[in-house]
Amino acid sequence: MSAVVASSALVDLEDDHVAHTYHPLDVVVATGEGAWVTDVAGRRYLDCLAAYSAVNFGHGNPVLLEAAREQLGRITLTSRAFHNDQLGPFAAALAALAGKDMVIPMNTGAEAVESGLKVARAWGYRVKGVAPERANIIVADGNFHGRTITIISFSDDATATTDFGPFTPGFRSVPYGDAAALEAAIDENTVAVLLEPIQGEAGIIIPPADYLPSVREITTRHNVLFIADEIQSGLGRTGATFQCDNAQVVPDLYLLGKALGGGIVPVSAVVGNRDILGVLAAGQHGSTFGGNPLAAAVGRAVVGLLATGEYQERARVLGARLAAGLGTLIGSGVIAVRSAGLWAGIDIDPALATGREVCELLAERGVLAKDTHGSTIRLAPPIVVEPEDLDFAVAQLTAVLGELRAR
Ligand SMILES: *Cc1c(COP(=O)(O)O)cnc(C)c1O
Repeated sequence: MSAVVASSALVDLEDDHVAHTYHPLDVVVATGEGAWVTDVAGRRYLDCLAAYSAVNFGHGNPVLLEAAREQLGRITLTSRAFHNDQLGPFAAALAALAGKDMVIPMNTGAEAVESGLKVARAWGYRVKGVAPERANIIVADGNFHGRTITIISFSDDATATTDFGPFTPGFRSVPYGDAAALEAAIDENTVAVLLEPIQGEAGIIIPPADYLPSVREITTRHNVLFIADEIQSGLGRTGATFQCDNAQVVPDLYLLGKALGGGIVPVSAVVGNRDILGVLAAGQHGSTFGGNPLAAAVGRAVVGLLATGEYQERARVLGARLAAGLGTLIGSGVIAVRSAGLWAGIDIDPALATGREVCELLAERGVLAKDTHGSTIRLAPPIVVEPEDLDFAVAQLTAVLGELRAR
């Protein structure tokens, strides 16, 4: 069987036996190293998605693989019915990185969001004194926080919500970037505001510079928790440990995931102070796999990589190079570019092509990227990417836009 046949056979197998909840590009990845992946036919591609920022530190990062391998040989799962020797050191290191006291260890991003919502409601009833069953939480239009029924209950994306009701009550959505609208939605039963510091799935939407500081000031004044969903924006991507650092704000709770697992295992967490996370008592929340020794060992190694600041610096420096390269394309098929560190949203002129078409042509030229919301494409290469790789990506995008204009 030739490699090409093998590739289409594998696509067919997925098509037949995996529910069609994704629409992947026609590339079957077999191996990866750093910022590059290789398909089953041996073709190499620059990975400009990095698994939606779950692979910030590169495929097969040697430090993270070594931490995983060492822990694989010791023990991988104990459940929280017993202590394990990895969870405490991981939690202490992660809390220190975030400048907070403690963590709730979970697995996926959606679980971290659910955990943050639960802790906010419990804090509202037990500390703030909200009347039973009355708590509300404010979110932003255009949000993406995951796929559970409670989380999609406050999504305004029809594709994500249609036919999945009835939904969880207790959420209010206001325009993103509008602090006055957010303040107007707060009442005595508001326990939290949940926001992405930059809206990733919406297309790398960056709010006005004074937005997050205003939200911090408003939530503090109304005794409302500020929960920052940094699952995609955090852990180096934007040139800082957290995008909230760039905005010089400190939320009450950080929600982390994706890169926290180093691209090896699902690891997520809620990070906050004892006066908030301490409201939860034994039996009130949990996860069989949350805080498992393999996840904790990998998560601690991830925190170790971030503790030096070198990845944050690299994302900042390389991000400026990427933004400069992409900026030259405005007017040649690109309408706008928004970027923060090594994270860019590129609005393609819809008259020229869809984002999907651009991504398909990029893949033919050895660059993997993902479209979002019709005509926007998102670039988020692993932070280990080399400067010349970024130049390669920009050159391929330039060539694709040229091809499309000539059509
Ligand atoms: C990906 C993502 C999530 C959900 O994470 P999963 O691991 O896919 O459940 C939540 N919030 C944001 C901002 C995300 O980007």
